[in-house]
Amino acid sequence: MSAFPQVDSTGCRDGVLQEQGQRQVFCGLTSIVWLHRKMRDAFFLVVGSRTCAHLLQSAAGVMIFAEPRFATAILGERDLAGLADCNEELDRIVHELLERRPEIRTLFLVGSCPSEVIKLDLDKAAERLTEAHEGRVRVLPYSGSGLETAFTQGEDQFLTSLTERLPEQTDEALSLIVLGTLADVVEDQFRRLFDELGIGPVAFLPPRSGEQLPPVGPGTRVLMAQPFTGDAARALIRRGAEWVAAPYPLGVSGTLEWLKAAARAFGVNEQRVEEVTAAPVARAQAALERQRSVLAGRRITFLPDSQLELPLARFLAQECGMELVEVATPYYDREFHGAEREALGEEVRLVEGQDVERQLERLRADRPDLTVCGLGLANPLEAEGLRTKWSIELVFSPIQGFEQAGDLAELFARPLVRHDTLRV
Ligand code: SF4
Repeated sequence: MSAFPQVDSTGCRDGVLQEQGQRQVFCGLTSIVWLHRKMRDAFFLVVGSRTCAHLLQSAAGVMIFAEPRFATAILGERDLAGLADCNEELDRIVHELLERRPEIRTLFLVGSCPSEVIKLDLDKAAERLTEAHEGRVRVLPYSGSGLETAFTQGEDQFLTSLTERLPEQTDEALSLIVLGTLADVVEDQFRRLFDELGIGPVAFLPPRSGEQLPPVGPGTRVLMAQPFTGDAARALIRRGAEWVAAPYPLGVSGTLEWLKAAARAFGVNEQRVEEVTAAPVARAQAALERQRSVLAGRRITFLPDSQLELPLARFLAQECGMELVEVATPYYDREFHGAEREALGEEVRLVEGQDVERQLERLRADRPDLTVCGLGLANPLEAEGLRTKWSIELVFSPIQGFEQAGDLAELFARPLVRHDTLRV
C-alpha cells in the first residue's frame, strides 16, 4: 500500500492532472539574481559551463560598471572529460576571489548541471574551503541545476543549505522565522505589524547579512512567506521547529489569515489582529477596488513556472473576480500548498508538471484574456494574439502584504488595459 495518492485513469492524482513531458522553465541559477541583492555580504560562485555564465549575465542584466556579487567558475572541456583536477582549480579560484574581495563573508558554491554530471562534490569542497579560510569566510554549497527543478527551487536549495548551518537554540522560548525572500520594504512592514501584535523575536530567512543567522530549536515557529520553500521548511522542522499552517501573504485575505495564524501560534487573540490591521486592510481594499473594474470577469490561465501559481490564482479569483481557466504549477506540494488548493475549490482545472505541447493546445482552445507564463513562451503567445504576463516579474516585485495588494492586482491589469487601449 502506498502512502501517496495514485494517478487514476484520467491522469489525475488527488484531483490534480499530472503532466510529465517537455518543460519550458528557467533553472535554479536564476534565483541568484534576487538572492544576491537580498544577502549583501554574500557571494555566489556558480561552478558551471559557459551556458550557465551566459544565463546569469543575461538574467541579471549586469552593467559593466557594477561589481556583481556572483560569478561563474567555468568548467572547461578538460574538466568535463575528467582530465583536470577540478578541486585544485576551484580552490585556486576561490583563493583569488577572496583576496580580491575582502568584504565577502559568506560564499555560496552553486552547483549546476555540468558539475552534477561530472559528480563534482561541492559539499566536500565547501568543507575544505571553510577550513582553509577559517574565521575569514563561511563557504556553503547548494544546487541550482536545472535537471529537475523550477527556477524558484534554487532559492529552496539555498535556504536548505543555510538552514543546516543555523545555530542551535539553547532555550525553548518562542521565536518566529519568516521563511522565503521578501523585498526589504515588505519585510519592514511585516516587522512593524509583528511588533504591534507583540509577536517576536522575529527573524527573516534569508537575512540581509550572513552574520544574522537566527537560532533554531523547539521554540521556533516557521511561517512560510513563499510557497517554493518546502524543502527548507522540512529542514527547519527536522531541527525541532514547528510549522505554522497558513495561506501565503498575497492579497488582503491571504495576508490577514497569514498574520492570524502567526498570532494564534503566539497566543495573541484575533480581535487584536483585527484592530492592528484595520487601517492597512482598508487602504488595501480601496486600492484593489480600482483594479477590480479591469479584472473582474476576465479569464486567466497559469502555465507552470514559479510555484506562486496557486496563491496568485486564489487572490485573483477571490479578491479581483477573475475567472480561472487553468492553474498549472511545476510542483504541487501537498503538505504546504493544501490550504491554497482548498481555497480554489474543486471546480478549477489544476495541473502539476508540464507537457508544453499539450498545454499550448489547451491554451489555444481556451484563449483566456491573460496567460501567466515564462519569458520563453510570452513572445510567441503574444504573436498569436494572446495577452501574457511574465511570471518571473512576480518573483522580483514586492507583492506580499496589505500595502502591495493594489500593486499586485495592477500587475495583472496592466497588460489588459494596454491591450484595450491599443484596440480602441
Ligand atoms: S545549470 Fe543547467 S540549465 Fe542552468 S544554465 Fe547551467 S546548464 Fe543550463
